[in-house]
Amino acid sequence: MTDDQNSKKDMNEMTDNDWKEKLTDEQYNITRKGGTEAPFTGKYYKNKESGTYMCVCCGAELFSSDTKFESGSGWPSFSDPKNLEHIKLLEDTSHGMIRTEVRCKKCDAHLGHVFDDGPTDSGKRYCINSAALDFKKKEDTNEK
Ligand SMILES: [Zn+2]
Repeated sequence: MTDDQNSKKDMNEMTDNDWKEKLTDEQYNITRKGGTEAPFTGKYYKNKESGTYMCVCCGAELFSSDTKFESGSGWPSFSDPKNLEHIKLLEDTSHGMIRTEVRCKKCDAHLGHVFDDGPTDSGKRYCINSAALDFKKKEDTNEK
């Protein structure tokens, strides 16, 4: 590992104020406070480009465009996480519903929810807030 952590704080040491400084108000309210963006307003729900969706807070790779599908819900929807090791699932009983919350394992950011009504083989629908994601477009250059 050649992670340069000297100039950056460890994710677990980030305080509420640190996140406020790092994130926009919307990103902060969603990822740190468990908020939800209004449907059809996010910047990625219509994104069809190839690439990787990362945690807006810590940069962990969360979802691939390969698993993104059009759910009609107004939020970016994925059939599978890019790496199950990068997310954690929690039971969420808020708003009088039992849902499964999806969080970033590395920094504990709230990402969205996962439902069991996905149209693909996985049967899962990861319904994720655009504001919790940072998109890295796949380069067309040949990778070595
Ligand atoms: Zn994260």
